[in-house]
Amino acid sequence: MNLKDYIASIPDYPKEGIVFRDISPLMADGEAYREATRQIVNYAKEKQIDMVVGPEARGFIVGCPVAFELGLGFAPVRKPGKLPREVIEVEYEKEYGTDTLTIHRDAIKPGQRVLITDDLLATGGTIKATIELVEQLGGIVVGCAFLIELEELHGRDKIQGYDILTLMDY
Ligand code: AMP
Repeated sequence: MNLKDYIASIPDYPKEGIVFRDISPLMADGEAYREATRQIVNYAKEKQIDMVVGPEARGFIVGCPVAFELGLGFAPVRKPGKLPREVIEVEYEKEYGTDTLTIHRDAIKPGQRVLITDDLLATGGTIKATIELVEQLGGIVVGCAFLIELEELHGRDKIQGYDILTLMDY
């Protein structure tokens, strides 16, 4: 199975010059979704993780089935104002201005081995902020798994030293 057959590429969305890589056809196909999940589960097994963490919203779609399959927990990383209990937050640079991500203060226990998941690695800003949140709570980021990497944006350079799995490159 070629997972790329299940990615829709939409030119000039959400604005001119961007090619949006849409994972919804992959999610809509049970076999393709399971195959992508399986590959990340195999990677996670090698890393002996305790917990999966992913940023909203597509990080949940990738990470939750992995956590379920391994019998582990999942902790959501969210935009401000979405998590109801005490949070810590990290501000990070976007193309225009800054953005903030938050996580519940008790989401990770110190020393836990964490896998971070998202649908796509672009500039790396989102993953870097998520790593910072996990580490502030004392978690150890042992891997980062993405369905897609946009190589020309060099997101990897922002998270040098961390282990990265990507299933498809563009
Ligand atoms: P970045 O922080 O630049 O690495 O951006 C990663 C986040 O933005 C991911 O959570 C993606 O869901 C989303 N994203 C960025 N670029 C694209 C793209 N070309 N197609 C689909 N999603 C994208």
